[in-house]
Amino acid sequence: MKDENGQGLFHSGYVTIAGKPNVGKSTFLNSILGEKVSIVTSKPQTTRNRIIGIKTLKDSQIIFIDTPGIHKPRHALGALMVKRAKEALRDVDVILFMVEPSAPSYDDIGIVKLLKGFPLTPVFLLINKTDTVKKPMILPVIEEYKEIYPFKEIIPVSALKGDGIDIVLERILEHLPLGPKYYPDDLVTDQLERFMVSEIIREKVMEETEEEVPHACAVEVIDWSEEKDIISISANIYVEKNSQKGIIIGKAGLRLKAVGTSARADIERMLNTKVYLRLWVKVKPHWRKNETALAELGLK
Ligand code: GDP
Ligand code: MG
Repeated sequence: MKDENGQGLFHSGYVTIAGKPNVGKSTFLNSILGEKVSIVTSKPQTTRNRIIGIKTLKDSQIIFIDTPGIHKPRHALGALMVKRAKEALRDVDVILFMVEPSAPSYDDIGIVKLLKGFPLTPVFLLINKTDTVKKPMILPVIEEYKEIYPFKEIIPVSALKGDGIDIVLERILEHLPLGPKYYPDDLVTDQLERFMVSEIIREKVMEETEEEVPHACAVEVIDWSEEKDIISISANIYVEKNSQKGIIIGKAGLRLKAVGTSARADIERMLNTKVYLRLWVKVKPHWRKNETALAELGLK
């Protein structure tokens, strides 16, 4: 899309996928994101929206998020979960509702009831697994769904074969508002959590040092190991000068400790699991001028 000066405009937004277990949501995501991208393994999560994939195109970016509670039929949700699912869905630009190529089940109808709380959000019905049925069988399914919800689009797809995926992508793009490129181009989802962790740490360093170390710091996650119910993360905080190192560490290490405590709280909330965080401050002279160092830090 172009503005009146012929400049390209960037669009970006959030999309969530609702649907019963096993309808093909993960398969669909893999297909739409491309094979290069691996999807973050799902961890138990309750209240937060997790980013499960990002599709970046020349002038748009779609962020797929997982919305807690939305895969469950409404009757299986407590009042609080319904409330949270609704809060989580409020800021989504498009909801994809994926179903089997058969009449709506009790559980599907439960999800539809939940969707009715968002009359302003466009909902696309994706009838998946169309490769398993004969074409004429799909029409009555469409008719039945039309009766229970005013879907913005109804698109038959086969996530497994890749059929209809381009159409879904096109229609999503039509509904994305103008917005920034929230995430770097080549960020694949398995790197995403690391990237977000490093951003959280960097933000906390800035907060704690009150910009005494402005922009002169970079954070690199150097180790990430997932155990039973805890994730151990080690990260280096790089600065250019010894004096900056001293500022970040603080008297008796208190400032670095404060950075760690507050970063850990945010990271635990994001990952929804206990986190053990170890931070080191290292001096890398002139890292900002040094291309190799930048590349190492994933900044280039
Ligand atoms: P999810 O639980 O909704 O994430 O579903 P998955 O993506 O894990 O898929 C569940 C099963 O359905 C897997 O065995 C997939 O291979 C299969 N599946 C997904 N999409 C299709 C499709 O379009 N056609 C067929 N035949 N099978 C599919
Ligand atoms: Mg899945």
